[in-house]
Amino acid sequence: MKAAVLENRGVLTYKDVPTPEPGPGHVRLKVKAISICGSDIKRYVDGHRMYPLILGHENSGVIDCVGEGVRESYIGKHAAIIPLVPCFECEQCQRGYYSACHNYSFIGSRQSGGFAEFVDLPERNAFILPDDLPFEYTALIEPSTVARHMLALGDFKRGQTAVVLGAGSIGLMIVQWLRILGADRIIVTDVLEENLRIASNIGAHVTLNPSKVDVIKEVQKLLGDGADLTLEATGVPQVLEQTLPITRPRGKVVLAGNQPLDKSLRLTFIETMIRREISLIGCFMSYSAPFPGHEWTETLAALSNGSLDMDALISHRFPLSKAPEVFEKIGAHQLAHQKIILNPEEAA
Ligand SMILES: [Zn+2]
Ligand SMILES: [Zn+2]
Repeated sequence: MKAAVLENRGVLTYKDVPTPEPGPGHVRLKVKAISICGSDIKRYVDGHRMYPLILGHENSGVIDCVGEGVRESYIGKHAAIIPLVPCFECEQCQRGYYSACHNYSFIGSRQSGGFAEFVDLPERNAFILPDDLPFEYTALIEPSTVARHMLALGDFKRGQTAVVLGAGSIGLMIVQWLRILGADRIIVTDVLEENLRIASNIGAHVTLNPSKVDVIKEVQKLLGDGADLTLEATGVPQVLEQTLPITRPRGKVVLAGNQPLDKSLRLTFIETMIRREISLIGCFMSYSAPFPGHEWTETLAALSNGSLDMDALISHRFPLSKAPEVFEKIGAHQLAHQKIILNPEEAA
């Protein structure tokens, strides 16, 4: 089969690799749509723990083959990849905290992923879908589940106010979930006007561009002492520092952006957190018990009833064979984008 393989830092090659055969308890997905994740880009730009690796974990397709012990009736079913492969045995798995598993794998990061014509996955990692949803939309289920998980961790309640920092793909998914779950006021910040335009189209009440206005002052004008819930989805240290002054006393801040590890934070941050009694909550992936969690079933329901708009988030479509050029352009900051869909069937 053809696959886009990360062979070294900044080296992605479209080439022939062996087609996987599903082992016992596994299924094989014939890939129909792939969405590029920010983490795929990070692995390409910054380098990764292992080479060669087929990247990709935001995929949907059709199960075309099953291994020993898996019901034949799975063949022909549509499915999306659930990328986390927990051990289901360790202390954290027993508690249902799968993303804290002591011994996990992850499709497209620690084992072969979905930038390919076929992917082998454990039966439990196939999220079975109805046949009538477009593959491009179901490839975007995973990033939606991350946004839904952030709101669950932040204990978001209907009628609350929220600030979303960063209108990239996770930020835009958060905006949609805030709208679906009945936020009273949704304020979104981003330095790119195009991202803010999309945010407005899908439910943001107010958009702020920090390169043009003082975000802290504007939020205080709009919400007084601050938002009930602030969601950080940029991974930019200066943005992280803004989270507390825009959150009301006793409010919550959920962090999902990966920060640069060579930077440090002044302890005035903790001082502000203490004085305002703000809860600072980390978010890693998108899972809860029973596996994979309500984040996944709710995303499917919202997609099925039309309340999640995936179309608004897709900016580009390319054949998988173009993946090396696409990544080269992204790495050189020459391709402004929201979600990019790769299609393996158009591969030359
Ligand atoms: Zn992802
Ligand atoms: Zn475990």
